[in-house]
Amino acid sequence: MLNLRDAKRITVIGGGTAGWFSALTLRKICDARVEVRVIESPTIGIIGVGEGGLVNLITSLNDLGIPIDEFVKETGAAYKLGFAYEGWRDASAADKYFHMFADVRAPAFAWADYGIHPYLSMLVHQQIPLEHAMAGFSVIAAQGSQAQAAQMLADPANGISLSYHFDSHRVAKYLEKVAVARGVVHQQALVEDLIVDERNHVRAIQTNEGLVETDFLIDASGMARLAIGKKFKSEWRSFKDYLLLDRAIPFHMPHPKEQPYLVTRAIAMSAGWMWQIPLIERVGAGYVFSSKHMTEAQAIVEIEKVVGHPIAPQKTISFEPGHFKEVWQGNVMTLGLASGFVEPLEATSIGQMLEQLRQFRFVLADTNGVVSQKNIDNFNQANCAFWDGIRDFLRMHYDCPRRDTRFWQDVAQLPLPESYAQIKQVLAERTPRESDLKTYALHGWQQMFGTISWMMVGAPLGVVSSSNAGQELFGLPQSAQVQLMTYLNQYRAAQQL
Ligand SMILES: Cc1cc2nc3c(=O)[nH]c(=O)nc-3n(C[C@H](O)[C@H](O)[C@H](O)COP(=O)(O)OP(=O)(O)OC[C@H]3O[C@@H](n4cnc5c(N)ncnc54)[C@H](O)[C@@H]3O)c2cc1C
Repeated sequence: MLNLRDAKRITVIGGGTAGWFSALTLRKICDARVEVRVIESPTIGIIGVGEGGLVNLITSLNDLGIPIDEFVKETGAAYKLGFAYEGWRDASAADKYFHMFADVRAPAFAWADYGIHPYLSMLVHQQIPLEHAMAGFSVIAAQGSQAQAAQMLADPANGISLSYHFDSHRVAKYLEKVAVARGVVHQQALVEDLIVDERNHVRAIQTNEGLVETDFLIDASGMARLAIGKKFKSEWRSFKDYLLLDRAIPFHMPHPKEQPYLVTRAIAMSAGWMWQIPLIERVGAGYVFSSKHMTEAQAIVEIEKVVGHPIAPQKTISFEPGHFKEVWQGNVMTLGLASGFVEPLEATSIGQMLEQLRQFRFVLADTNGVVSQKNIDNFNQANCAFWDGIRDFLRMHYDCPRRDTRFWQDVAQLPLPESYAQIKQVLAERTPRESDLKTYALHGWQQMFGTISWMMVGAPLGVVSSSNAGQELFGLPQSAQVQLMTYLNQYRAAQQL
C-alpha cells in the first residue's frame, strides 16, 4: 500500500514537457501545504524535438486552466489538423492519404448504427477518402492560411478537431513560467542518485547541491530514465520485432510553401520516413530510419536530395521502441520519454504522457491518496494495453504496398503482434468496431485511436476492405439506405461527379 495522505513533498525530475505538465497537474490537485518541486539539469537540457500534439493537448491545457490563445502566442504554435502520409503506397507524387482529427460530433462521424458508421462504410465502399466527409477539409486541400483555418474551425459544421504544432523549447519555458507562478518550486541541479528505503521507495534525491527528501517521485528525466530504468532496472517491453525504426536525425528547415501546412507530413523514404512539422516561423523536420538498413551519412544524403538543399542535422537520437512494463512502482511514477518511446509516427508521445497523467490523477482522487497494490497493478496493466494500441495502430501503417527498397521488403516480412493480427483478420471482412478496440482501453483509460482513425488509415492501405465495407450496409433498414443515397448524391453533386 502507498499512503500519500500525509505527503509533504512531491518531486518531479525533469523540466521537459512531461515534467512541467506533471508539476502543473500535481500543483492543481495537491493541498497548498504540499510542496511540488521540479529538479532539472540546465546542462543536460531537454530533448528539444516532439513538436506535434494530439487532440488531448487541448483538453489538458483547458483542464489546467491554461488559456489556449496564450499558449499559442508563447510557443509559436500553428494549427495541426491531422497527418498527411506521402509516398507510402506507390511513391508517386500523387500518392498521399490523410489521417485527420475527426470531430466525432459531426453528423457523418456521429451516425453509428448496429456497431457501424454507415456513412463512413459507404465512403470506404465507394473508395472515397474519408476526409471528404469533413466540410472543412477543402481548406487543408487548398493549403489555406492560418487565418483561413481559423475561420473554417469557427464553423461547428466543419467536421474537424484541432491540435497544434509548437516549438518544444518554448513549450517547456512557457509551462515552467506558469508552474512557477502557481507555486511550483524550480531547482536547477544535477540528480546523481536516488536514495531508497527497505521497501524500495525513494526517500531522497541526491543532487550535486545536496539531498532533497521526497514522499513521491515523478521521473520525467527523458532518455536518461533515472528511476524505473537505471535505479530499478525494470522490465522493458520491446516492440523492436514489430517496428523497425531506431534512429532519428532532427533538423530545421524553411517552409517549402508560402503557408505552413495545416497537417504534419510523414513522407516515406528509402529506410523509414521523414516528419515535417510546420510551425509559424520554420519547419521542424527529421528522418526516422532503421539502422539495419542505412547509415547516418546515407540518411543525410537522402534528406538533402528530398528537401533539395543542405541541412544542419542535430544530434542523431538512438532508441529502442517500447516502454517499461511497470511505470508505477512503489512511490515512483515514470512519465514521458523516461517511460517509453516509439517512432513519432502519429505523434503519440505527448498524447500518451497526458493520458497516463490524467489517469494517475484519477487514481489519486479516487483513492483519496491511499493506494493499494491492486490499484497500482491495474494502472500498469492499463498502461501496457494503451501502448499495445499505439504499437498495433503504427504497425498497420507498415501494411502498405511499398517494396522498392530492402527496408520496405523487410517491412513486408515483419511479424504481427497477436492483438493486431486478430484485428487485421476482421478488417479484411468488415470495418472496425468499438468492441475490437476495447482491449486497448482498460480500467477507464481513453482510447488513443478509435474506429474512425483505424478506418482513415486502414482504408487507403487496403487493410480495411472496401468491398466488404459495402456488404455491411445491406443489413441496414430501408430508411438508413435512403439516407445514405441522399448523402452520396449530395457528395457527387458537390464534387461535380
Ligand atoms: C525524434 C523524436 C520525435 C518526436 N516527435 C514527437 C511528436 O511529434 N509528438 C510528440 O508528442 N512527441 C514526440 N516526441 C517525443 C517528445 O519529444 C517527448 O514526449 C516530449 O518532448 C517530452 O519529453 P520529456 O519531458 O519526457 O523529456 P525531455 O524533454 O528530454 O526532458 C528531460 C528532462 O530531464 C532532465 N534530466 C535528465 N537527466 C537529469 C539529471 N541527471 N538531473 C537532472 N535533470 C535531468 C533534463 O534536463 C530535462 O529537463 C519525439 C521524440 C523524438 C525522439
